[in-house]
Amino acid sequence: MHHQGGASGAAPPPPPGACGLRPIPVRRAARCPVPRPRCDLNYMSVIQSCAMPGHGGIYHYLQNAPNAISRDVAHAEAHDQFVCPHCGDSVVGAVIAATRQDAGLVGVQWIRCPSCHQGVVKNTGMLAPSAPAGEAVDGLPPDVAAAYAEARNCAGVRAYTACELICRKILMHVAVDKGDAAGKSFAQYIDYLENSGYTTPTMKPWVDLIRTHGNVSTHEIPPADSGRAMGTLAFTAQLLKLVYEMDFKVKQFMSPPSSTGTP
Ligand SMILES: [Zn+2]
Repeated sequence: MHHQGGASGAAPPPPPGACGLRPIPVRRAARCPVPRPRCDLNYMSVIQSCAMPGHGGIYHYLQNAPNAISRDVAHAEAHDQFVCPHCGDSVVGAVIAATRQDAGLVGVQWIRCPSCHQGVVKNTGMLAPSAPAGEAVDGLPPDVAAAYAEARNCAGVRAYTACELICRKILMHVAVDKGDAAGKSFAQYIDYLENSGYTTPTMKPWVDLIRTHGNVSTHEIPPADSGRAMGTLAFTAQLLKLVYEMDFKVKQFMSPPSSTGTP
């Protein structure tokens, strides 16, 4: 990570946030690592020198450990940015410990999320548990949300065949949620969504890819590759956005019906 950013210009340091801590630039946006309730420091920042809450309140089993080094929490490698798999926030995490690369050890970082305070591990850069893959979609009914979350989690752990199976099953969830009967074929569900006006004829080719990719994953031996599965997941996300999320969001801008019947 490059938390120090390109400090070559003469730009004044950014002001401290409401938490009283002063940010320094990093390359990507991150949230203030002060735990909830967060302050309004929500721009490209990481805390430079402070009583890092993510680093506090921890037992360090360090005494008598061979070749161990203690570092300051303001060290450039004391923070790392990631999407927390537990709470879903994009955060600058507190690196609690890391193996010594200068000693030739396998690269491992033990990191704590400043939002939910849960921990993750990066093994040679690979996050565990992994964050869900794909885009979040708002406004889903519970069973569709659960199925889509499972598809994202599958892709996040590179279970691509399972991801495609669930994406195809989501077609059934959506059609039945919108009034179709259970027990039909996936092709019939796609026709129902089109005939009911939830999808358009121009959407049909890629909506049908969700079905056909799921068929391949179900009936053929070679596993799904990441490119195809991530495409299937992206098509599924787009379908769910058009069927549910747009309607969910537009309702946030609509006035409740007048009790007098006047416009
Ligand atoms: Zn978290």
